Amino acid sequence: MATQTDLSTYDLIINGDSVTAEAGEYFETVNPATAEPFARVSQAREPDIDRAVAAAAETFDEWSSTPPEERGRLLNAVADEIRSQQERLAQLETRDNGKPLSHARSDVETCARYFEYYAGVADKVHGDSIPLTDEYVDYTVREPLGVTAQIIPWNLPTNIFGRSVAPALATGNTAVVKPAEQTPVTAVEIAQLASKVGIPDGVLNVVPGYGREAGAPLSSHSDVDGVSFTGSVPTGIEVGKSAVENVTNVHLELGGKSPNVVWPDADLDSAVDSTMTGIFANAGQVCSAGSRLIIHEDIKNEFLDELVDRIEAMEIDAGEADPDMGPLVSQEHFKKVTDYLELGRKEAGDPLVGGEALNRDGYFVEPTVFDDVDSDMRIAQEEIFGPVLSVSEFSSEAEAMELANDVDYGLVAGIHTQNMGRAHRFARDVRAGQVYVNEWFAGGEETPFGGFKQSGFGREKGLAAVDAYTQIKNVCADITPK
Ligand code: NAD
Repeated sequence: MATQTDLSTYDLIINGDSVTAEAGEYFETVNPATAEPFARVSQAREPDIDRAVAAAAETFDEWSSTPPEERGRLLNAVADEIRSQQERLAQLETRDNGKPLSHARSDVETCARYFEYYAGVADKVHGDSIPLTDEYVDYTVREPLGVTAQIIPWNLPTNIFGRSVAPALATGNTAVVKPAEQTPVTAVEIAQLASKVGIPDGVLNVVPGYGREAGAPLSSHSDVDGVSFTGSVPTGIEVGKSAVENVTNVHLELGGKSPNVVWPDADLDSAVDSTMTGIFANAGQVCSAGSRLIIHEDIKNEFLDELVDRIEAMEIDAGEADPDMGPLVSQEHFKKVTDYLELGRKEAGDPLVGGEALNRDGYFVEPTVFDDVDSDMRIAQEEIFGPVLSVSEFSSEAEAMELANDVDYGLVAGIHTQNMGRAHRFARDVRAGQVYVNEWFAGGEETPFGGFKQSGFGREKGLAAVDAYTQIKNVCADITPK
């Protein structure tokens, strides 16, 4: 059992310094593979949020007037530094979150790539000139929002840190980041790396803490000019309301319950692979997980036999062993997922495979498939956020479409077919912010991402994030001789 003195300690990062929270409290994060504490982290509350926001406000003029090419150079240096520390950051992420090391390495690379991508964008953010009559010159400029708040979930901590922070800084905003209380470590580490390569003090602040005590005072802070929230629908609604009360710009990246439609003409081997990745990557703790398999009746049995064989061969272990699947993130989340396993049994009967928690330390559950799931069941409608796949059968295109859209979420959707007409009809008619054709999680840092329906509003990734982090000013000049 680790004692307090064995644990690494992480403080807040405010104005470029590591500082303890004013109240002097710490919380512990837990290694999900062992259920033992892994790090002590200084716990921010409202006075600390005030300090961080003040630091970000104080440095805003300096950062927003730094030449864009210089901002780009600095962000490239952050990317290089993250890459140079990839293995160390991945090891920390795995211990904090539980995910397999290969996934953590890929998340760190993705974070570096966001900094690199937005470094390239920094000096290409420009406005339009608008033709009016000869009496006027009219143009727009894109200006940063000011102090931005990034509230980050625990499932992809390093990845989403890069996704939210890099475009904010590239476009001249300063940032106050509230990582999830379960996984705060890499955010603190990356802010330290950013300071090391010359990001000015106060531009990037990190305030670990709990939602109510640190997240809420941040999202409702009257000196915050933009809020980027990634997390669950109920919290998103609360954050959205508090931001709007201050008339603060907000975008919400929320949950999903995404359909994965497989047709008989698909490359079935690749569709099985894609289905496995879609639901078991990160133990199903992915907003864009393919949690609903919608499969054509002609191939259902063959497909499910192959799927079950592959699931039975999966290696489940601590993330450090780099297995196919690691544990869930926390005791609380383990309880939520195992409650859904019980509910699934009641609603759909015994699963085809899985359905149990593993009898070992840590928060491990089996990869699970429930067959014959009807749309009105809760396991078909609610985001389980675990390695639990529900299967429904269809016989016609209209039926597949109806099943795909029959949920309140609309984050992503996937189709496997060789018939491109059918794929594009699906892309046209499905109510989702991103459509995958023949590969789950297709796309990259360059492709806009965000939800329809209850999955949120606003877009991150790609050039769409520039819109999210800037506001348009229109300038109209009367140029007639006076
Ligand atoms: P959550 O909503 O519980 O927490 C998200 C963040 O909000 C955490 O940092 C938390 O501390 C903070 N928070 C909690 N209460 C708050 C409050 N009242 N005010 C301000 N902040 C508060 O979500 P979670 O369980 O950490 O993450 C899982 C959810 O995130 C899932 O629903 C998943 O689909 C979603 N998610 C969405 C995306 C996306 O891009 N759309 C990406 C990853 C995760």
